[in-house]
Order: sequence, then C-alpha cells, then structure tokens
Amino acid sequence: MAMIADNLQQVHERVAAACTQATRPVRSVTLLVVSKTFDAGAVREAVAAGEHRFGENYVLEGVEKIAALADLRAQLEWHLIGPLQSNKTRIVAEQFDWVHSVDRLKIAQRLSEQRPAHLPPLQVCLQVNISGEPSKSGLRPDEVPDVARAVDVLPRLTLRGLMAIPEPATDLAAQRAPHRALRELLTRLRAGGLTGLDTLSMGMSADLEAAIAEGATIVRIGSAIFGARGIRASG
Ligand SMILES: *Cc1c(COP(=O)(O)O)cnc(C)c1O
Repeated sequence: MAMIADNLQQVHERVAAACTQATRPVRSVTLLVVSKTFDAGAVREAVAAGEHRFGENYVLEGVEKIAALADLRAQLEWHLIGPLQSNKTRIVAEQFDWVHSVDRLKIAQRLSEQRPAHLPPLQVCLQVNISGEPSKSGLRPDEVPDVARAVDVLPRLTLRGLMAIPEPATDLAAQRAPHRALRELLTRLRAGGLTGLDTLSMGMSADLEAAIAEGATIVRIGSAIFGARGIRASG
C-alpha cells in the first residue's frame, strides 16, 4: 500500500507551499518524520520513499526501533523529541543523533558526559514551554538564556537551537503567535553571543504552515504521514 509515500508527497507539497508563501527556500525547512507508535515496517516504507530523519517520543520504543533498523543505521538520523529522565540519558547519548527535548541543565550535563567518544557531538535543542502551560514540560522563556549559555560550552554536545510544542489553536494568527515568540527568543540568544544557533524545531501536522511562516527550520510531522495514532500511555 502506497499510503505512506502518498502522504509524504502531500506533506512535502504543504511544506513547499508554506515556504513559497513565506518567501523562504524550500531547502531551509527539514522534515522530521515522527514515527512514534508506528513500527519499524512503517519506517522502512518512509525510507523507501526517500526519508532519513526520524523522531521518537519514548526512549525505549525508539531504542527498539533503532535496533530493528540496524541495517539502515548509517543512513538514518534518529531524533529524540519526547521527555527524557536522568536514568535514561546514557542509552540516549549512545543511540540517538539529536535530542530536541533538553529541559534542564542536569540532563544536558549527563548527555555530554555519556556521549561516546567515537560518535560526533550529540545535537541538542532546548525545549521551551512557549505557551506557558502549567502542566507542560520545557523551560520558561526567562530561564532559557542562562541554560543556553551553560549548555553551549558542554564538550560533547552541540547546542543547535530551540524546540516547542505550542498549545493547539485553530486559526492561523493564533497558531503563529507562539511560534513567533520562539523565533524572537532564538534571535535574542543569537544577539547575546550564541551566534551558532540555527535551529527552530516547531510545527506539527496541524500547524506546520504557521511554524514555517515564523521561521521553523525543522517541522516534526507524524499523523499527516502515518495516519492517526491510537491511545497510548506515555513512558
Ligand atoms: C507526536 C509529536 C509530533 C507529531 O505530531 P503530529 O500531530 O502527529 O504531526 C511532533 N512533536 C512531538 C514532540 C510529538 O510528540
């Protein structure tokens, strides 16, 4: 069944249209295929359709999938986009290429200490609770500059930028506001001396147009590619 390939083509068309609308080059936006809850076979279909960057939310599910796809490891990039507890940093430092969800300095320090010497530095983003939702993970915007400066000097990490999961909204203007706030935060960090930061990880199936309009460089897309997910406990 060619559903995944068809959906991917539609997502690439949405990304391209949003880039045109924003007068941005299509190549300035990277598609991260979010494969959480879908099996290794679904990832293989996406690889066959030309994708090679995958995002996982749950550490152990991700590690299992990386193992099931070990034959493709050299051509794939694995991104952790979900919550990370201290007791799972080692396996993440050993297995993943990127972590988007660093939300405290201690996690970054552990990842840096545990990143194996034979691998390139782990690429990381700081997750920001940009909509200020009390129940959501992520740094408060006012905490970000100090944490960013401290993470930026850790030897085995490369701080790339910021990630957010804004509160869902339906109209484009309401969707754009939190994405704009994240972009402005990145701009302030760069002006403050962190000139190497180049990544805004924002935009999901429902709001990728708003995110691209505000400068997203990585959009994280799951359900628009693989279909709706079932209910699943997090962990
Ligand atoms: C599940 C998830 C996505 C993808 O969401 P869709 O709405 O399925 O595109 C993106 N980012 C994070 C952090 C997620 O958990």
